Amino acid sequence: MATPTTIDDLVERNKELAKSYTPRPFFTEFAAMGIPMPKILIVTCADPRCVPESFLGLKGAEAAVFRNVCGHVGPEMHHILALDTIINFDEIMIVHHNDCGGFLINDEQVRKVLKERVPEHTAEVDKFATFGGITDLEQSIRDDIAVLKASPLMRKDLVNATRGFTFDIKTGMLNPLDI
Ligand SMILES: [Zn+2]
Repeated sequence: MATPTTIDDLVERNKELAKSYTPRPFFTEFAAMGIPMPKILIVTCADPRCVPESFLGLKGAEAAVFRNVCGHVGPEMHHILALDTIINFDEIMIVHHNDCGGFLINDEQVRKVLKERVPEHTAEVDKFATFGGITDLEQSIRDDIAVLKASPLMRKDLVNATRGFTFDIKTGMLNPLDI
């Protein structure tokens, strides 16, 4: 079995990649270069098998991408609200995938381990309503769309332009969710 890649490995790799790096434009250069600001916001999983730049063929500044465990909306709400004041997104795309590590997260188990690690902070641990685990892929997307809908701070037209998808890491296919 190959040894795991280390940060030092990546830093060395970066030195090589930087030699052929294509400079990206600053925001201040977008207009002069005829580049529109991204109008699609994608929220998806941080899993290395679920890379939207790859399975959607994202180019340039087509979309802003937020990734976290499962691709939950909740942990990103303040970022979504903040960026939307600058960009005014047209659409939000929520993508969760099969075989997600979120299926391995059991909230009670996480609480138990954390309380064993930091027994002096059990009250802090209990403040987390969830640690993001999922048991049903499609339901997790519906729940995230519900989080958007429940926010009084979200623009209603943007909430209404939110769509959910599952991504199959075996076939590479995106499947729209019937809401
Ligand atoms: Zn995942």
